[in-house]
Amino acid sequence: MQDARPSLQLTQPNARVRLGIKKWLEIKRGQDFIELLAWASVVAVVAMFLINGGLKEINSLAAGLTALDRLTALIATNLLLIDILLVSRIPWLDHYYGHDRVTAAHKKLGKPILYLVLAHFVASVWQYSIAENKNLVDEFFAMITSVSDLLTGSIALVFMILVVVTSLNFARKAVTYEAWYLIHIFAYGAVLLAIPHQFSVGTDIAGKPISLTYWISLYLFVLANVVWYRIAKPVIRAMRSNLRVAKVVRESSDTASVYLSGKNVAKFGGSAGQFYMLRPLTPSQWYRPHPFSISAAPNDKFVRFTIGARGDDTALLQNIKPGTPVLLEGPYGVFTEDRRTKEKVVLIASGIGIPPIRALAESMAARPGDVTIIYRVRNDQDASLLAEITEIARRRGFALHVLSGKRAIGTSWMNADPLGRTDQDRLMQMAPAIKDSDVYVCGPVAWTRSVERSLAVAGTPAHQIHTEEYAW
Ligand SMILES: Cc1cc2nc3c(=O)[nH]c(=O)nc-3n(C[C@H](O)[C@H](O)[C@H](O)COP(=O)(O)OP(=O)(O)OC[C@H]3O[C@@H](n4cnc5c(N)ncnc54)[C@H](O)[C@@H]3O)c2cc1C
Repeated sequence: MQDARPSLQLTQPNARVRLGIKKWLEIKRGQDFIELLAWASVVAVVAMFLINGGLKEINSLAAGLTALDRLTALIATNLLLIDILLVSRIPWLDHYYGHDRVTAAHKKLGKPILYLVLAHFVASVWQYSIAENKNLVDEFFAMITSVSDLLTGSIALVFMILVVVTSLNFARKAVTYEAWYLIHIFAYGAVLLAIPHQFSVGTDIAGKPISLTYWISLYLFVLANVVWYRIAKPVIRAMRSNLRVAKVVRESSDTASVYLSGKNVAKFGGSAGQFYMLRPLTPSQWYRPHPFSISAAPNDKFVRFTIGARGDDTALLQNIKPGTPVLLEGPYGVFTEDRRTKEKVVLIASGIGIPPIRALAESMAARPGDVTIIYRVRNDQDASLLAEITEIARRRGFALHVLSGKRAIGTSWMNADPLGRTDQDRLMQMAPAIKDSDVYVCGPVAWTRSVERSLAVAGTPAHQIHTEEYAW
């Protein structure tokens, strides 16, 4: 093998790593505890509702609607606050679930919350319309014009509907990421707008010290997490580190590496395989952060991202000027050695999935022969970071398989094989110990699913398969 980059500076790999199933079981226990807390909070608000006589004297339609109005409002607000916590990028949630699972849970909760809020809205207007003998429309206008907190509460509902609708799969395809992101920022506004009516007209809170303490504590806890992790911490760190673009290096015809340097870059910490939200502090881009995985193991000289041109912002980033100040939020994700349980490791990347795989290959605690790298590329003459990964494999005694060129059949995740072998046979030949290995997979979503199917057939247990999806 040729010495592709003789001058390539690599950080020392991790000296040791804790292996074994115990680690995985500890994570499962942590997840169980977090889920128990979340369920307990829902049970607590239902219990407070019952203790406050929520189901007493339901002897008419109006009384039934009042109970429904109160209960749906309480559960919806509790779930909404949990849902906001899920997108606060809190390190302890990220540690136990990983960014993609937390985001998936956040998405899943959106619709039930909206249905509960709509039920609360309809039940409350309906019950007052019965009491005041008005039709629903007249009653609604009477409510929002006479009680100002109800007007803000109704505006909050409109924002909430907008957020959920734009997050549905069909709508996601129609809106850009930036539009979707801005609408989501409005969701935070929506929650703020809805708070006053909960305290001023909410019969389950006003004058009830236990309920009041519970809700104020929950709001403050969520607010503290959002403000600290999403705003204050990244801003303070940016000011301290004065992080700037040091240089941009072309890696292939459509990828470039952006090197960042500043004071104490080592303090950015994190692990190989993690990603940051990168926010160039320029007039046109400061409000458009994008996620990128570090493409070199953390070190005290630079933070590096390798960026493929996929759209408008990634094209701009490939030409970002040295000296541009940037803000990093993170690190996020559990696509790291922290999740490893086995001695043998297989790293599988396709296309622009290579950055975290390249960083993992550099930092893995491993003996020669422990690690197998499989890199799927369209063209090995123009593959991003191939020279570096070749050099890492050579220095550390890892096996490297570059699968270059078109695939033979649509369902294959490999290139066409001159010997006509199946993906399964080739995988077993490249990584005979795949069943007993931790496997890290990064690439397009459909391709990743295909690899996962092969791994399942090969008998690799699900907890040994780690994926990072470039999806939002
Ligand atoms: C955890 C994670 C790690 C990533 N690491 C890398 C990396 O190391 N190198 C790299 O080149 N790319 C990486 N990506 C993908 C990268 O973030 C997107 O390609 C980029 O945000 C596209 O921005 P754009 O404005 O140029 O594209 P757009 O024109 O907005 O869209 C182009 C494509 O990128 C998708 N996209 C847009 N914004 C995002 C976003 N914020 N998150 C995910 N997908 C998006 C769109 O759905 C579309 O398919 C990563 C994504 C995630 C989620």
